[in-house]
Amino acid sequence: MSEEEQPAASEPGQNGCRYGRVVLKISGEGLTRPGERGIAMDAVVHIARQTYRAAQQGTQIAVVLGGGNILRGAQFTAADSSIHEATAHYMGMLATVMNGLALQNALESLGCDTRLMTAIRMDVVAEPYIRRRAMRHLEKGRIIILVAGTGSPFVTTDTAAAQRALELDADALLKATRVDGVFSDDPERNPHAVLYSELTYDDVRRQNLRVMDHEAITKCKEYDMPILVFNFRKEGNIERAVRGERIGTLVKA
Ligand code: UDP
Repeated sequence: MSEEEQPAASEPGQNGCRYGRVVLKISGEGLTRPGERGIAMDAVVHIARQTYRAAQQGTQIAVVLGGGNILRGAQFTAADSSIHEATAHYMGMLATVMNGLALQNALESLGCDTRLMTAIRMDVVAEPYIRRRAMRHLEKGRIIILVAGTGSPFVTTDTAAAQRALELDADALLKATRVDGVFSDDPERNPHAVLYSELTYDDVRRQNLRVMDHEAITKCKEYDMPILVFNFRKEGNIERAVRGERIGTLVKA
């Protein structure tokens, strides 16, 4: 997308008013087929197409990618304790870089201008993440893909997404998941689970709801960063989310 094609960012808001800048957290499972592991390019292209269309609406988008389709540090050590947990977490962060390369390729194949930025330096494949440079890319209408999480072990990419949303002055953190939002129970196991349309940060903590990890919720609460949890598998949902449409579950103060 050229600079000329990028409409000016509007005021952020809800009820159909488009966000100016968002961090879009996509779990690794968004880059594979349901129930599978690894990377499936048809799934990657599906995400890329939706993300590109959302950016064409004029919203600046920073994507934070997970790596759970390849490896999650905590699960890996739990299954095989012969590996140090910190090492496993670094492996998880590297998994997000592979996902980032795939998503960048898919976005570029659609004609979208992107930058891949990593929290762990590897200059041959991606730019180092530098906040001011990331802001500049966003202002130019480029979709930035942020990989390697925070660059530090023992946290997840949810925490990285919250951190980036705050430092990049995003209007909202959009968490794309495989279910419709936040439920009273696991909707994949309990058909009677109720979908919440709105929750406070304190509701999430009190009821121990699975939205994002504890650290991410705490950061968002502290700085009043709204979180929208929605289903990425439904066509058009990323565009709806950046338009501020009331899909999924909105978590706020
Ligand atoms: N990770 C980490 N530090 C970070 C981000 C991620 O150590 O700042 C590791 C962690 O082991 C995590 C893995 O990378 O499990 C993959 O990320 P995540 O589990 O968040 O992926 P998702 O579940 O979103 O696909």
